[in-house]
Amino acid sequence: MSKLLTTRHKQTNCPRCSHQLNATTDVQREGQRAPEPGDVTVCINCGQILTFEEGLQLRRATAEEVQIVQADQKLWRLSQFLSRRFN
Ligand SMILES: [Zn+2]
Repeated sequence: MSKLLTTRHKQTNCPRCSHQLNATTDVQREGQRAPEPGDVTVCINCGQILTFEEGLQLRRATAEEVQIVQADQKLWRLSQFLSRRFN
């Protein structure tokens, strides 16, 4: 089993719950790379699907970007679980 890569980045706030986010873990284990602009992620506090922009700031994902997460069962279930817990 390979180790998951966690990347620290400049602090940014979730646009939904304002949780302070300063690190991201690659849970797909494919390439174990740091996040790049255009990558999607999930807020660990509220489950909001987010997209990295330039400078690794986060914004809410578009409907198209949400589909990327929906295609990944593990990430989609995590997002749904966290979202239900937050509401
Ligand atoms: Zn959030």
